[in-house]
Amino acid sequence: MRKQIVAGNWKMHGTLDEVRLLADQLHAAAFHLQHHQEIVICPPFVYLMLLRERFLDRKEFHIGAQNCYTEPSGAFTGEIAAPMLSSIGVEYVIIGHSERRQYFHETHDMLAKKINIALQSGLKPIFCCGEPLDIRRQQAQNAYVEKQLQESLFHLSEEQLRQIVIAYEPVWAIGTGVNATAQQAQDMHAFIRNLIANRYHAGIADDITILYGGSVKASNAAELFACPDVDGGLVGGASLKAEEFIRIVESL
Ligand code: PGA
Repeated sequence: MRKQIVAGNWKMHGTLDEVRLLADQLHAAAFHLQHHQEIVICPPFVYLMLLRERFLDRKEFHIGAQNCYTEPSGAFTGEIAAPMLSSIGVEYVIIGHSERRQYFHETHDMLAKKINIALQSGLKPIFCCGEPLDIRRQQAQNAYVEKQLQESLFHLSEEQLRQIVIAYEPVWAIGTGVNATAQQAQDMHAFIRNLIANRYHAGIADDITILYGGSVKASNAAELFACPDVDGGLVGGASLKAEEFIRIVESL
């Protein structure tokens, strides 16, 4: 049975006091997850160690970073390297979020390098893909997402691809309150799975976890997660409210 995940992307939110409070509220919640289900928390870098230690006694919680640099170390002032993240017990790293692509000009090529260094460092990348609104309006989303996967993921070996979680996040749904419909999500997830089956084989396509992201809320999570090819969610805004995030996890 493939892994199901609800991941919270806290983005650039929260002071230390706010993060401590949110962590306490999540820590206090009783989850009834099955062995193939996980919660991943992705706080800003400065809180990773704190969160990792806070949740050491809760094995359903895993910690992820929101980014890493393309190089393993060196004179790159202000950057964070993948081996640093794994050395403090971080397990996942989000790569290729649309905000990184848009505001920090991350290219397919850079993302392929980040994927490589993350894997070499023992991290599990959560690779984000998804089309902007104008592409969706032209009904060209499949070709757009296919190129994102081809350029940044499909150089990997089968063994490496098995370490990847894919998150389909249509840009028009991120932070807008307008989620993709369950049908739109299912169609794209099935398309991605089919691409993997064609490039690799059906076995790995069937095993890979594909999350949906973009305005996931407690009110729409169950419907989205019920789609056969949707294996959970990457949640932004709603992951900052403990009660709402807990309800989303319970929708798995
Ligand atoms: P959102 O963000 O849930 O606030 O739409 C999702 C994301 O950016 O990962």
